[in-house]
Amino acid sequence: MLPGMPRYEYRCRRCGDDFELSRPMAESGAPAPCPRGHDDTVKLLSTVSVGGAAPAPRGGGGGGGGGCCGGGCCG
Ligand SMILES: [Zn+2]
Repeated sequence: MLPGMPRYEYRCRRCGDDFELSRPMAESGAPAPCPRGHDDTVKLLSTVSVGGAAPAPRGGGGGGGGGCCGGGCCG
């Protein structure tokens, strides 16, 4: 996998098909004809695998419920 060659997802409005293209970031906004040759395409949200900034719920299990160790029954 080459650095600097992110993958972009497009959708052809003619076929209604989604397809992906690997292209330099500089060309991310360039027209991307679909595999069948239509150029009536729209760029979808990029699914680039670089970020990793997905909001994850904070772990910890949330406690709640029993609360045994908080009620003094453990000690
Ligand atoms: Zn098409």
